[in-house]
Amino acid sequence: MDIQNIKKQLSAAYPYRVELHAHSKPASSCSQVPAVKLVENFKAAGYDAVTLTNHFSHRVLITYYKTEDKRTACEMYLEDYRKAKEAGERLGIQVYLGAELRFEPENNNDYLLFGIDEEMIYRAYDYMDTDLETFVTKGKSDRSVLVQAHPFRDNMARMEPRLLDGLEVFNMHPGHNSRVVLAEQFAGGYQLKLKTIGTDYHYEGHENLCAARFPALPADSFALAQALKSGDYLMEIGENLILP
Ligand SMILES: [Zn+2]
Ligand SMILES: [Zn+2]
Repeated sequence: MDIQNIKKQLSAAYPYRVELHAHSKPASSCSQVPAVKLVENFKAAGYDAVTLTNHFSHRVLITYYKTEDKRTACEMYLEDYRKAKEAGERLGIQVYLGAELRFEPENNNDYLLFGIDEEMIYRAYDYMDTDLETFVTKGKSDRSVLVQAHPFRDNMARMEPRLLDGLEVFNMHPGHNSRVVLAEQFAGGYQLKLKTIGTDYHYEGHENLCAARFPALPADSFALAQALKSGDYLMEIGENLILP
């Protein structure tokens, strides 16, 4: 059997293509793509689902959103997700709520959070001026999965593996060197089994850089977290399939 056939067979066994790391504007000030356009782009690129992981930190909430009111900030944050979700229902592509958290008093690390609902965004708000350990031990739900995003980019600190469910080993943001080999080795050394891949989508034209491929399409963000925990998925970079 040649390589093309093996790829075909693997693709058929893991048919559902999911983006695990995407930013929309205005929720993420750094993104150039409005939420609805983002969903349209991923649908056109053949994805079955996209996870919205907009930035969530005190700087975002207070400096960028210009409000210290919890409700106003959380509603501004969730508006992009609601728009994306609605567009997804119209277009036939699943949209999952996720978040990219940063605990600014501690450091500049970013953490991707999967397996959440709107209420959990409100809950996370109360922890954004604390640190990773406080959030993980007191604020995070058992139904959620938290992975450190691009842990080997410049200015990132490595955290105690016991505080993490896993690592984003492949980050495809073209503007940063995420040193993906070091991330992969670190995850292996600490036996962090959960490894993710993400485009870190901010710009049009970057659809199809990579995907996670699942045997079944998770019904919602919680099911996505479960599917990640199961470890039964493939990673796709461009045309190539690799193991997580
Ligand atoms: Zn960003
Ligand atoms: Zn990101």
